[in-house]
Amino acid sequence: MNAITNHMPTAELQALDAAHHMHPFTANGELAEKGARIITRASGVTLTDSEGNQILDAMAGLWCVNIGYGRDELADVAARQMRELPYYNTFFQTTHVPVIALAKKIAELAPGDLNHVFFAGSGSEANDTNIRMVRHYWARKGKPSKSIIISRKNAYHGSSVGSGSLGGMSAMHEQGGLPIPDIHHINQPNWWAEGGDTTPEDFGLQRAQELEQAILELGEDRVAAFIAEPVQGAGGVIVPPATYWPEIQRICDKYEILLIADEVICGFGRTGNWFGSQTMGIRPDIMTIAKGLSSGYAPIGGSIVSDEVAAVIGGDEFNHGYTYSGHPVSSAVALENLRILEEENIVGHVQDVAAPYLKDKWEALTDHPLVGEAKIVGMMGSIALTPNKETRAAFAAPAGTVGYICRERCFANNLVMRHVGDRMIISPPLVITPEEIDTLIERARLSLDECYEQVKAEGLYTAL
Ligand SMILES: *Cc1c(COP(=O)(O)O)cnc(C)c1O
Repeated sequence: MNAITNHMPTAELQALDAAHHMHPFTANGELAEKGARIITRASGVTLTDSEGNQILDAMAGLWCVNIGYGRDELADVAARQMRELPYYNTFFQTTHVPVIALAKKIAELAPGDLNHVFFAGSGSEANDTNIRMVRHYWARKGKPSKSIIISRKNAYHGSSVGSGSLGGMSAMHEQGGLPIPDIHHINQPNWWAEGGDTTPEDFGLQRAQELEQAILELGEDRVAAFIAEPVQGAGGVIVPPATYWPEIQRICDKYEILLIADEVICGFGRTGNWFGSQTMGIRPDIMTIAKGLSSGYAPIGGSIVSDEVAAVIGGDEFNHGYTYSGHPVSSAVALENLRILEEENIVGHVQDVAAPYLKDKWEALTDHPLVGEAKIVGMMGSIALTPNKETRAAFAAPAGTVGYICRERCFANNLVMRHVGDRMIISPPLVITPEEIDTLIERARLSLDECYEQVKAEGLYTAL
């Protein structure tokens, strides 16, 4: 194996990193003192850092390495494509073989009449495309006033100005003048944190009906689309009550507003079907894709669009596109990734083996004194940490204090598990085996135990 083992000592690398590299979503000053963890290689579900630690990556990078690390086939395809045609664009009536093959494959995998793909370099770019596409769609249908896109608080749709505006992350909106005009946010279906005394079923209906109220308040002639993740990912793996999505679909149908399913995490097997929309039983007009499309081996994203929307948009020139829309190397890598997902029946492995095995063990974590609810759909799961399971209380300490302690314990125990506030989340590679799931759970339990001890010792085990 051609591993890079002759790199500089960790401390030197960390100093250079701190001096010149600005990290995304990171307090860079704080990191400079501590030093970043340096990942040097990976294979299967396991990362190796510059100190030689073997870390189980229960987040699949950033929710993306669906087929696992270290698949030579993707490296070979990338090298071959770079030699043959490293770059050509798809503007101005040109195309190339990898993008044609990939678009055809995605159309085949996507449900219903979702048969057309507009490519982008990332999920953020794809959602920016969606903003312009749905507004342009209604303009071409003679209804230019339909420009408002309804989204949800605590949604994540990307980090560009457009996609960050679609998202409902208040910490993002506080910086840089977001959101852009004509984006409206309703409440999320997060029963654990916001459901009060309501049953999950009633709460799911209530939160879905906020969409109807918003349409009526804003005016049917003003609303273009509703966008949502089938299961909120970065918001904390919030699984909506079963009543939620059927009601949302009913409302979208009734008022004829476009439904955009942001499948950037849920797509390509994560929920146990090819798309989260299938798991949730919804019929979107547009799907946003990225992450698992290439298993993160090359940057690529896109919008899968229905026959109807594509026909309307295609009627004249859509003044939109990215230099790297349908990049040949990314397209070839994505196509190879889809071949592996399909031929190795990895979605079937999730449904029949990995997800049921993980679900049992994950839900059993609720016997731990710190853990309130455990939620899981396919291979994305979350647990809520709480000082009082009965009242579902939040900690008195600022949100995220305890979650951060838990995440640090996990990292020290060679497990990557993320925290969102005081929820711990996982999204492992889909190829994870039952034995590796045992290791994941073992390390999670050990970390929860250590976190519990620390939280009690520091006087943090108190309710708000
Ligand atoms: C990650 C993510 C995005 C943004 O994708 P990038 O490739 O980071 O731009 C959009 N939507 C969802 C649901 C995501 O999880």
